[in-house]
Amino acid sequence: MSRHPSHDVNAALRERDLAAIWHPCTQMREHATRLPLIPVARGEAAWLIDASGKRYLDGISSWWSNLFGHANPRIAAAIAGQAATLNHVMFAGFTHEPAIALAEELIRIAPPGLARAFFAGDGASAVEIALKMSFHYWHNTGRRERTRFISLAHAYHGETLGALSVSDLPLYRAVYAPLLLEPILAPSPDWLDGEPGETPDEVAARRLREMRAILERHAHEACAVIIEPLVQCSGGMRMHAPSYLSGLRQLCDEFDVHLIADEIAVGFGRTGTLFACEQAAITPDFLCLSKGLTGGALAMSAVLTTKRVYEAFLGDYAQNNAFLHSHTFSGNPIACAAALATLAIFREQPVLADNRALAAHLATRLEPLREHPHVAGLRQTGLIAALDLVDDKPSRRPYPGAERRGLRFYLHALERGMLLRPLGDTIYFMPPYVTTPEEIDLMIDVAIQGIDKAVAQP
Ligand SMILES: *Cc1c(COP(=O)(O)O)cnc(C)c1O
Repeated sequence: MSRHPSHDVNAALRERDLAAIWHPCTQMREHATRLPLIPVARGEAAWLIDASGKRYLDGISSWWSNLFGHANPRIAAAIAGQAATLNHVMFAGFTHEPAIALAEELIRIAPPGLARAFFAGDGASAVEIALKMSFHYWHNTGRRERTRFISLAHAYHGETLGALSVSDLPLYRAVYAPLLLEPILAPSPDWLDGEPGETPDEVAARRLREMRAILERHAHEACAVIIEPLVQCSGGMRMHAPSYLSGLRQLCDEFDVHLIADEIAVGFGRTGTLFACEQAAITPDFLCLSKGLTGGALAMSAVLTTKRVYEAFLGDYAQNNAFLHSHTFSGNPIACAAALATLAIFREQPVLADNRALAAHLATRLEPLREHPHVAGLRQTGLIAALDLVDDKPSRRPYPGAERRGLRFYLHALERGMLLRPLGDTIYFMPPYVTTPEEIDLMIDVAIQGIDKAVAQP
């Protein structure tokens, strides 16, 4: 082992970490063998810098949350200012200007018809709240037989028990299945699942016919359909046509079932519009937001809903029909300040136009990979681009899971100072919006080497 002092700084932190911490989404034993654990000391725009000074370009926005760079000065100043003024107050019976301004701004920028904001602490909680509000709406309006939710194959909505219930990733769900609600599962509109020659719109139309059949059978017992608009992210960056969303909105109206749009990953400009729902010109009954809401700086989420839903919870105290989801830090002023600073950047800078230009650059640089003998399904929606490593390209046959080709890619990228963490063998790019075209070039160069290394035998 090197005796270089900076190396020792990393090693010492790693050792203390592994003696005290249990990390999420990790087989902890692998940290003792092949899996690096990187102590990050600071962040700077699209870069993370470890305790020894090694730099990593954050190609996945630290789990899709960072929009305007790490340690963004404007967001940092807003947080510091708010923390020195009012860091927290309970949100029942008390209110404050940062939360009021944030709710007003979210309602102003969200799809038309969303009229109320409910604040929570993280993405999974936002999904819990949307599920509970939808169920409770039907309860309050005398439709108590409505107790089920319709979700999509390959969906991911978080990992608390309710959110996990409407998720369809065996990795996260299988063990806990005995504890979960049973959703009604509809096929994913993923355009890569299409028949040969079928366009994304044709796949969408076929999936909508299947959804109609499901609603015909189940609408009487269903509270809502929940969807990740345009991109099912954790489920493998599966993309669908906006026509699926608009068709789904029509079906939900026709069968009088709520539509919950989980834009926790795709909201705030990621897909090319501020919200993905805009591309289908729809308004959901519930819009779940988190991740980018505070620019990736603090845990916070919000559920926006309509006047119709809100008013079904108004009544005499004795009726006991108020919405109950009591979270200690609901509407936390510091998180609100971070979110307001983030939304101010959207107002004052041409973020969406810049994102579209950066997305076009990313597309150009990825295009040559279309010819790669072990790359299939190259796809992109805004600043989300993905591809699958495959053993056999014509049949899209995957590699045996045990070979962990994606992990090889991850390790190569880290070694080269790049944070790109595949979902299994699906490699994706989801950079912060402040990434420069030159940094995109660097990212793709490293990725191409990493792909070649990952698919090399054995
Ligand atoms: C990340 C994510 C969640 C869960 O958010 P957490 O803050 O991690 O609980 C829910 N839905 C989608 C679409 C997500 O990407």
